[in-house]
Amino acid sequence: MGWPLGKVEDFMRWAVDLAGRLVREGAAVGIGEIGRPHWPVSPEVRALCDRVMEYGIGVARDLDAVVHLHLEREGANTLASVAEIARRAGARPYRVVMHHAEPSVVSGAWERGLVPSVPVGRRGEFEEAASVGPMFVVESDFIDDNRRPGAVIPPWTMAVKLLRAVEQGRISADFLRAICVDNMVRLYGDAAAPT
Ligand SMILES: [Zn+2]
Repeated sequence: MGWPLGKVEDFMRWAVDLAGRLVREGAAVGIGEIGRPHWPVSPEVRALCDRVMEYGIGVARDLDAVVHLHLEREGANTLASVAEIARRAGARPYRVVMHHAEPSVVSGAWERGLVPSVPVGRRGEFEEAASVGPMFVVESDFIDDNRRPGAVIPPWTMAVKLLRAVEQGRISADFLRAICVDNMVRLYGDAAAPT
């Protein structure tokens, strides 16, 4: 049922090109999310996703844009595969975000020039990642569903959660600055610098 895989791939590449055009026109700063489903898929679908991911990282590289990857959470296997695809695509360092990253891949991703993004408020994962060091950025988990406003981890709770972590001594103020300012500037460039 549905579209044949070839048509799906053509459409996804068209969407990546469209995103790239918006970056070039200054209407966007990055491409995403592209990547792989977080549920099991056939080898054919996975291979298709990997081709589109490599293509998208290449488009982002040419534009010096950020690219956000949505991925399965298979720890070292996910990291090794993404690092290889990014290498093949000639990714610029610290422009490829592994979104919804597991704490276990934080240091390995950072060492390979990838930017792990850790959800805040997901069963202690932020605390686990924080114990590794300020080698990640943080993210909410926002569901764009008007029937469930603020379900999961709404973005507007992030600042409160992070400031509470400082107040409670789970992280230092310097750590907070590193992940929310320094790492964002590294990722998005001077446009992200506080004025
Ligand atoms: Zn995602």
